[in-house]
Amino acid sequence: MNRSEKYKQIVFCDFDGTITAEETFSGMLEEFATQSYESAARLVGGGRITLKEGVRRLVESIPSEHYPQVIDYIRGKRLRDGFAELLDFLYSHRIPFVVISGGLLDSVTTRLRDFAGRIHAMHAPTVKTDSPTLKLHSQWEGETETVAKADVMAEYRYEQAVAIGDGITDLNMAMAADIVFARGYLADYMKSKGRKYIGWNDFFDVINHLSKRWQAR
Ligand SMILES: [Mg+2]
Repeated sequence: MNRSEKYKQIVFCDFDGTITAEETFSGMLEEFATQSYESAARLVGGGRITLKEGVRRLVESIPSEHYPQVIDYIRGKRLRDGFAELLDFLYSHRIPFVVISGGLLDSVTTRLRDFAGRIHAMHAPTVKTDSPTLKLHSQWEGETETVAKADVMAEYRYEQAVAIGDGITDLNMAMAADIVFARGYLADYMKSKGRKYIGWNDFFDVINHLSKRWQAR
């Protein structure tokens, strides 16, 4: 990957609940973690442990021998409408599309395999399977985040960044971007901070907005 190139525009996009229509990472953890998902979620919700610690506890409670099923979990999960069309749109405009996920890289690449040729890069934590339970590794681990998405963005050079997301782990990515497409929790947060964002429901909304915006320049 050539990260020294400077892009006029670049798109950074969350995976879970954004590209996928449902939360596949937490769904997978609920199914495969041998530690209680509910109790970990309670500890995180109560501020007793960080989200990063909660995720690590759950992922690292999964027996390594179940890893093939962990990855199978993502297959066939529905993607939000217009995803392929957005990739075509960006590809034709030579605008890189970068996926940043706090989920597992193998899950992300498995689900997006058919689109890989039009995706510039996918960044997410990896796991090791050579001990009895999974070991999680994140190259961009932050103080409280498994993946500090704004740190990933900072590895690229660009004039204008677009962020697309939905959740609590997209806050810093949204704050660092010039144009933000937000739904769900992220939209509520942007609204509460008085920050500009574009509400969206599917990727056709994103294409419509960007094609008008970039045509008007
Ligand atoms: Mg999400």
